[in-house]
Amino acid sequence: MSQQYADVIVDISSEKLDRTFQYRVPEYLKGRITEGMVVRIPFGRGDREITGYVISLSEEPKYDAEKTKEILGVENSQETVESRLIALAAWMRENYGSTMIQALKTVFPVRKHIAGKEERHLRLKVSRAEGEAYLEHCLNRHYVAKARAVAAVLDREWVPYGIMTGEYRVTAAVIRGLLDEGILTMNAREVYRAALETTAETQHTLLTDAQRAVAEDIADEWEYRDRPCLIYGITGSGKTSIYMELIGQVVERGQQVIVLIPEIALTRQTVARFLTRFGGGIAFLNSRMTPAERYDQFKAAKRGDVQIMVGPRSALFTPFPNLGLIIVDEEHENTYVSENAPRYHAREAAIKRGELENAHVVMGSATPSVDAYYAAKQGIYRLFTLKERYGGSRLPEVSVVDMREELKKGNRSILSSKLSEAMEERFDRGEQMMLFLNRRGYAGFVSCRSCGHVVKCPHCDVSLSMHKNGKMICHYCGYETVQVKECPVCQSPYIGGFKIGTQQIEDVVQKAFPQARILRMDLDSTKGKEGHGKILGAFENHEADILIGTQMIVKGHDFPNVTLVGVLAADLSLNSSDYRAGERTFQLITQAVGRAGRGSRPGEAIVQTYHPDHYSIVDAVHQDYESFFEEELSYRMLLNYPPCGCMMAVLGSGEDETHLEMAMEYLKKFILKLYRKSDLQVIGPALPGVGKVRDVYRRVIYCKHLQYDTLVMIKDQLERYIEINSGFDTIQIQFDFNK
Ligand code: ADP
Ligand code: ZN
Ligand code: ZN
Repeated sequence: MSQQYADVIVDISSEKLDRTFQYRVPEYLKGRITEGMVVRIPFGRGDREITGYVISLSEEPKYDAEKTKEILGVENSQETVESRLIALAAWMRENYGSTMIQALKTVFPVRKHIAGKEERHLRLKVSRAEGEAYLEHCLNRHYVAKARAVAAVLDREWVPYGIMTGEYRVTAAVIRGLLDEGILTMNAREVYRAALETTAETQHTLLTDAQRAVAEDIADEWEYRDRPCLIYGITGSGKTSIYMELIGQVVERGQQVIVLIPEIALTRQTVARFLTRFGGGIAFLNSRMTPAERYDQFKAAKRGDVQIMVGPRSALFTPFPNLGLIIVDEEHENTYVSENAPRYHAREAAIKRGELENAHVVMGSATPSVDAYYAAKQGIYRLFTLKERYGGSRLPEVSVVDMREELKKGNRSILSSKLSEAMEERFDRGEQMMLFLNRRGYAGFVSCRSCGHVVKCPHCDVSLSMHKNGKMICHYCGYETVQVKECPVCQSPYIGGFKIGTQQIEDVVQKAFPQARILRMDLDSTKGKEGHGKILGAFENHEADILIGTQMIVKGHDFPNVTLVGVLAADLSLNSSDYRAGERTFQLITQAVGRAGRGSRPGEAIVQTYHPDHYSIVDAVHQDYESFFEEELSYRMLLNYPPCGCMMAVLGSGEDETHLEMAMEYLKKFILKLYRKSDLQVIGPALPGVGKVRDVYRRVIYCKHLQYDTLVMIKDQLERYIEINSGFDTIQIQFDFNK
């Protein structure tokens, strides 16, 4: 074996994660050192002996091999949570493709030294009512940047200066204007410690027989094989009650628990439920927290002030000293996939962390991902099924309306006659309803009815969306422009919005039912999380009859008084280009339907579609997951899509389109030369779903192979090839596995 070198990091707590030092691995330790190990090294002037963490290994010295110092020894007794998180980072680096630094920064929330400037926060100087009036004024005058700024402070109360100029794209000049006008004020925000809430009275739920059986079988599995457990339980069957029971057991043993839930499901209801059960010792993470707040929460976890961490995917990296259990609720959610390198899947990473730390993993879903269910069927996970709703409340009566037939009958409205009648009944009975649309915006894309031309954003390869204020907006980059009056291609005057959007549904419903009290929830009406909670709260208090919304209304909220759910344009998500379109459609419809009749009264769901025969819609309507799974799996098998095969997307992006195309061609050639067997399928370079964003072009190469390891090997070789070829300097390459 040739000489081995180890990159060592000496200080994790600071922001110096990228400061590594290389040491030679002494002969007697060769092959015995792994990522995350604590080693003793000579350091600094005088070669003081200190400890550090090994973060990666190589066979090439970075500097003069002669002068590279040698590791003094290994601290076997010092395996810490940091060691294990470094090992997890190393696994993420290898499995998802990223640098070690990116992976380390993902698992260790770095406490940034916040420059004085960034400590400043903006808030309203005037009253809320005045703020709202001012916002109205800005909107009327089309002062869009000012409007964004004021809406932001109305929504979030305080907004860090950097977020205002970054996320909200408000320039310093506009901010200065608002300060001068006396609308906003800027000050250093008082030190905020995300308070750990507690309640004095706790309450245990007695599990039903079915729930208890699952909880006991899971405990059994932990004893014997400890495979990851998947609970497939219909909505309302009591998965959360089972989690609570398991969490209780683990905490009682003196261990800690991480509960991953999609951020959207982190509602007051959820928080209250945890507090009622456990009283305290729980921290909740959300993505609105500043890095410093998040760091505080993690510190509390490490110190032992907290035993349970509840939060979105980043909560997975909570540095608990003695982790006992990781729960991944709504395991199928696509928010579990990170957008940044390493593009990890939190479910997979949770299983890896469980393995590294001897912690159990329990996942749950009413519509398990095809991947997880497949693994369960293969016996890699242990499967548990709950088919009954708690309290015997029945699943709703579901019916399908073929919208093509509606049109033939002369009904051009977006509400079928069946749905209108059902709504009428609810008004009479004083019951609530939800209308779910798989899209946002006032009207979808703007297209010409004469020639079919679709108006696109000049900076992104996506269509512009019509908004009510007469503007067309790009949802990717925020570009806005006034609505066109005639088609830029054929000059036809018949150009307009493809009329389907939550706002338009609201208008139609209001017209049809003037007495209706309506709430609307979509990305535009809920910027920031408070807006979101407020709308749900109002609906819960029965301040409205109808809640209209996009994806976000179908997830994890319990409204006992809702007895009707209407799914409009159920098939819109079938039109997307990726291989999971059917899976996503099935999930959305199933979850939407599951919202009806969660209380004592029976529920009804009406699904409107143009594809009443598509299996993902038929099976969702019958709430038949098994049948959907079989159909979907045979389709995946036919085309070697995951989970039947493995897929790696090589995503390239760059500002020079020709250069990017050439570079991607080179990558493809390189792959084909590297791996010559016919069991590798290489597709592309092709245009991804979105071919351009903010003037950056994108191309993608798909590699399909039965073995994950083969793809990882190809990725490793590609990374090297890219690193040594200067032709790739201006091109960003990212890898995406099985997505
Ligand atoms: P899921 O997570 O599967 O959607 P939940 O655990 O949220 O189901 O349960 C649905 C509803 O039924 C909740 O309002 C919950 O309080 C209630 N519930 C479930 N199991 C029990 C139980 N054993 N005792 C009392 N209430 C329960
Ligand atoms: Zn035209
Ligand atoms: Zn754009």
